[in-house]
Amino acid sequence: MSDGSFPAADASEDDLDMLEAQLGRRPTGVLKVEVYCPAGHPQVIRYYPLTVGEQGEALSPFPTLFWLTCPSLIRQVSEFESYGWIGKIEERIQADSDFRAEYHENHRAYGLERWAALLPAHQETVIEKGWENVYRNTGIGGIREWDFVKCLHLQYAHHAGAANVVGRFLQEQFSLQPCMPPESPVG
Ligand SMILES: [Zn+2]
Repeated sequence: MSDGSFPAADASEDDLDMLEAQLGRRPTGVLKVEVYCPAGHPQVIRYYPLTVGEQGEALSPFPTLFWLTCPSLIRQVSEFESYGWIGKIEERIQADSDFRAEYHENHRAYGLERWAALLPAHQETVIEKGWENVYRNTGIGGIREWDFVKCLHLQYAHHAGAANVVGRFLQEQFSLQPCMPPESPVG
């Protein structure tokens, strides 16, 4: 994938092997591992925000840039989803104007970084195909209504890979634990 139709991926074969073990399939479109758990496996990956065919042709918008892959953190975050934390955080977004303003700013930053991640030729294709709206107006993971949270995994991945007030809130409230190397004492 280094023929200019797709940005050269920074991910090593080792990274891709570990991702295949985590996700159950070998992912295409990985730009790089953004964050590793201290144990050494990928925690958050940066993903190419466009689905690209074998000839480099643009197939469809993919408005997700950061993706949580650590199975342990996925489980921890899923637990908070099952306790209803999406709704509780959406209530806070309504009630707390500073929190809301920061969250909206996180959406904006995500959108700009996502657009900048596209190769110039793909930016042109996106405009030609009329997909620009997806890139200009949606936020984190393609969220259209910026007061909504949609998925805590998306938010936590953005927190770990860049900055996100919802993910930071989860981290501060619940001290989510990354995976530690087996030889180092935990706790
Ligand atoms: Zn981990």
